[in-house]
Amino acid sequence: MLAPAITNALTIDVEDYFQVSAFAPYIRRSDWDARECRVERNVERILAMLDARGVQATFFTLGWVAERYPQLVRRIVAGGHELASHGYGHQRASDLTPAAFRDDVARAKAILEDLGGVAVRGYRAPSFSIGEKNLWAFDTLAETGHAYSSSLYPIRHDHYGMPDAPRFAHRVAGGLLEVPVTTVRLGGRNLPSSGGGYFRLLPYAASRWLIGRVNRDDREAAVFYFHPWEIDADQPRVPGIDAKTRFRHYVNIARMERKLASLLDDFRWGRMDHIFLARDAAAARPA
Ligand SMILES: [Zn+2]
Repeated sequence: MLAPAITNALTIDVEDYFQVSAFAPYIRRSDWDARECRVERNVERILAMLDARGVQATFFTLGWVAERYPQLVRRIVAGGHELASHGYGHQRASDLTPAAFRDDVARAKAILEDLGGVAVRGYRAPSFSIGEKNLWAFDTLAETGHAYSSSLYPIRHDHYGMPDAPRFAHRVAGGLLEVPVTTVRLGGRNLPSSGGGYFRLLPYAASRWLIGRVNRDDREAAVFYFHPWEIDADQPRVPGIDAKTRFRHYVNIARMERKLASLLDDFRWGRMDHIFLARDAAAARPA
């Protein structure tokens, strides 16, 4: 083992390649239904990778995807994984009115619970779109029956981030637990250390060091995230996109599956609810 025996949280944001926020200027929402969907086969590949290693994970699943692939929702639950919510329509929380946000998260939770037959306790905002300007979203999540959120990214980034947010699990509104995506504090800054495009961009050894450092020095579980489309080198290319978006979306996609396999083998992984809600319940018990 490269790190102490801390179980880290493995999370997958279940959405298709055409739903990523950075493509929103190029792909109309009304065209989603006409696109070739690849999310089902990609999630099946992820489930097989996890199954081969006996790893359980948390799947933050879009209501839009769940409605179209109910058997996928059932496969996630049957595999022993946590079914959680990524909202319904993948609009940034920061782009929605409070009423529209409430409708979106309540609709997704109802669809997922109906199809999965389990309580949905976790939520992740599309593109980590909760920050200083819309902290009311936490109240809404608590009021709609969520127990935790993993929607803050304590970094500076052009599309998201709340650099001054606490780096680890903390209470927010209405008893809700917020579990930010993992960063490493280095040179007075928080470095993104937990997945997405950064994981594809960095050499694997760097990501391994960053996660190990959180386990060793912070004595905390890391929260790692990726998307089904990130292991899909053959996905249809979206034409006409700007160079930065193109780079971020496609960089090192062909190497992702192998990197992920190394990551799964080098650390211990588990579900968000098992790691954070169980610990939280223990801490809340009187001594
Ligand atoms: Zn997303």
